[in-house]
Amino acid sequence: MKNVLVCGGSGYIGSHTVKELLTCGYNPMLYDRKEPEFNGLIKNVKCVVGDLSDYALLEKTIRDGKIETVIHFAGYIEVGESVAHPERYYENNVCNTLNLLNCMVACNVKNIVFSSSAAVYGCPREIPIKEDALLNPINPYGETKYAIERMLGYFEKAYGIRYVALRYFNAAGADKSGLIGERHSPETHLIPIVLNALCKDKEIKVFGNDYNTKDGTCIRDYVHVTDLANAHILAVKHLASGGQSRAYNVGSGVGFSIKEIISIAEKVTNKKARISYEKRREGDPSVLLADITSITTELRWTPENSSIENIIQTAWDWLKTKDKV
Ligand code: UDP
Repeated sequence: MKNVLVCGGSGYIGSHTVKELLTCGYNPMLYDRKEPEFNGLIKNVKCVVGDLSDYALLEKTIRDGKIETVIHFAGYIEVGESVAHPERYYENNVCNTLNLLNCMVACNVKNIVFSSSAAVYGCPREIPIKEDALLNPINPYGETKYAIERMLGYFEKAYGIRYVALRYFNAAGADKSGLIGERHSPETHLIPIVLNALCKDKEIKVFGNDYNTKDGTCIRDYVHVTDLANAHILAVKHLASGGQSRAYNVGSGVGFSIKEIISIAEKVTNKKARISYEKRREGDPSVLLADITSITTELRWTPENSSIENIIQTAWDWLKTKDKV
């Protein structure tokens, strides 16, 4: 089970996972709209530049590469954009995943690890959130992840495709090599925005300080991208050894408010933040915090790199070097 197709492998979490796959002796092949940016680290990895909507190219890639497992990162990820343009999210996330699954059925590929999201829970009733909590997304982004999880369940029943859906909480941080890290355009995620603002003495916009939380700002569970990458390796192994299909939360199990993140970032960077409080961003739940008992006990995963200081420190180290990579 060494030949792994990594759809969306050129992106942030994908490239960290490709690095870990290589370290663990796998043979990853990338399928992405873009070439990987991190050529220094991901050498000698074949990358097919294409779209998941291109069935013929996808099928050829899977057959030629003798693919045995798929890791599927390719998808749009912005809550705000999904509210403004739901059609993009249904098209790219749901329709293209359907295409991928049809292709897997045709090529007899039986295992898939899918990038799901804590957004499937919507506004959870109980914190920390367990995987069997009510799934009730409150934005189109979360709806598409939920729809795909359901689709995976039906494809298992009909065609025997087994899956692990990893429900990411807030991925952040960068590889300790300093050679890969987060580079979204435009950047919408809190930690890189805060660090960039501190670096350039720009104002940080905090979306809402009237939530029902300890300081009025939203609480999130930040998980280091290297830990997240390792969760994919464990999920691949789980499926290869005949493990059952299921969804796992992947977070650190610890929550931080936006104000706390800014304050820790000030300490790490030794700079002072300028903050403006804005109205709430549509589609934001007040608290997202993972119960990680299932993945730690069943897959023996640990969030060993996910202290908030390490997350922010590695993100800061990356930000200072990324223009040179
Ligand atoms: N956020 C913010 N200012 C920003 C970017 C994000 O206040 O410039 C808030 C956002 O509204 C949310 C939290 O930070 O409450 C985390 O947002 P992010 O987009 O990083 O991740 P999400 O939880 O939406 O996946």
